[in-house]
Amino acid sequence: MNPKKIGLQKRKKTVDQKQQALLRKVPGVDHVLELWDRTQPVEDVPRAVLVRSIRTTLDRLRTRILAGDGLMDETMFSENQLLQLAAQEVNKSMEFNLKRLINATGVVVHTNLGRSLLPETVARHVADISSRYSNLEFDLEKGVRGSRYSCVEDILCEISGAEAAMVVNNNAGAVFLSLETLAKGKEVIVSRGELVEIGGSFRIPDVMASSGARLVEIGTTNRTHLSDYEGAIRDETALLLKVHTSNYSMVGFTAEVSLKDLVALGARYHLPVMKDLGSGNFVDFSKYGLMKEPTVQETVAAGPDVVSFSGDKMLGGPQSGIIVGRKHAIERIKDNPINRAIRIDKMTLAALEATLHLYRDESTAVSAVPTLRMLTLPPRVIANRAKRLWNRLRKLGNDRLEAVMIKASSRVGGGALPLQELPTKCVGVRIDGLSANALDRLMRQAVPPVIGRIENDLFVMDMRTVQDEEIAIITSAFKRILTEE
Ligand SMILES: *Cc1c(COP(=O)(O)O)cnc(C)c1O
Repeated sequence: MNPKKIGLQKRKKTVDQKQQALLRKVPGVDHVLELWDRTQPVEDVPRAVLVRSIRTTLDRLRTRILAGDGLMDETMFSENQLLQLAAQEVNKSMEFNLKRLINATGVVVHTNLGRSLLPETVARHVADISSRYSNLEFDLEKGVRGSRYSCVEDILCEISGAEAAMVVNNNAGAVFLSLETLAKGKEVIVSRGELVEIGGSFRIPDVMASSGARLVEIGTTNRTHLSDYEGAIRDETALLLKVHTSNYSMVGFTAEVSLKDLVALGARYHLPVMKDLGSGNFVDFSKYGLMKEPTVQETVAAGPDVVSFSGDKMLGGPQSGIIVGRKHAIERIKDNPINRAIRIDKMTLAALEATLHLYRDESTAVSAVPTLRMLTLPPRVIANRAKRLWNRLRKLGNDRLEAVMIKASSRVGGGALPLQELPTKCVGVRIDGLSANALDRLMRQAVPPVIGRIENDLFVMDMRTVQDEEIAIITSAFKRILTEE
């Protein structure tokens, strides 16, 4: 136990008479239940939830009395007060824990805030498929059992140019499954410059270890040459692996081997080559003023046996791990029984198929997939949006609130394009009598919560990731804070 805690315990006061008198006034659960049944302040509450909420409410009152809370007196046990507290508790426990919120951080692929938003048409398809029976594993033509992956195989091959495709729960799973299938008990050669940690404790060396493959590190942190790969090949070698460095970037005196050269080396030694592409995108972002990232098509064209990437990073679809490549390798991965443990579910499949359909036409994808739309948003659109919020906040006509427009940079997020600066406009807000921290907390407690950041004592909202219809919601949140705080 730490010394602070011990100190506190020593100083703990004994319960005085006034507290004891108050404690005796706290009614029993049955008494409040009876009150509730007479007035029903909230309708249709399951009995178990009600009883638990009342118990929690009464426990809280006792705790406050014991803590010597000066606000506690007999009025706290009036019928109205008890019912109001219980109703608050009931409402809280009837709410969902996972709720929508407003992302005003400007980080487009925000892993903590749900990464990618599904297009409306995609979300509707998910609702449709998941609330009815479907041909998930049924071949409608032959009338026999079919493959779970068949609904996305063709479209993935079509838009990536690969021979074969399959999907699992996420890209971490895709990397693990590929290594387990192709290299368990054998060696995998990886450059020291690509032994990355992606976040959420996904580290290439650790995934390698859990798959049962042995990591053979080659080259140096900044420079790796083809001769390094070739020098490490021996009988135990099963795979040559390249990993996208995703969330970090190396500049200066650096060298890496191109995927094409590695594929040629693999062919000479009859060794499969894999690329963990990380984010994975079908659109060349350099056409839209962003930095160049190799597309899935370009990666597949270089000829590796396996390419893996996420469905919910730059692709903007549901959480999933997509594996494309050569037929012989993909068939082996599909047949691995471990696949069952990380298999993709029907809602994800429905979302993925519908998202991939949008990629058949690039301009459709860029306008319909929210992730792509937000990444390629013209600065003037963001500036207009910021102006609209700024105007609405001024129209609240409250002297306590000061709103300013700020130029800043948004981030791509999701461990993609770490150096990319996306010019954006933010609205910063200060409210007299509230610290920036307090305002930040109140905005997080709003319905729906608004997540921004604190900068120079302002609560700052980046308008790139705020949707148009959310401007009114944000304005009401401020209005409420101004009247209540
Ligand atoms: C993000 C990432 C992963 C993990 O993908 P998830 O879909 O989050 O499981 C693996 N490898 C690389 C290079 C990544 O960037």
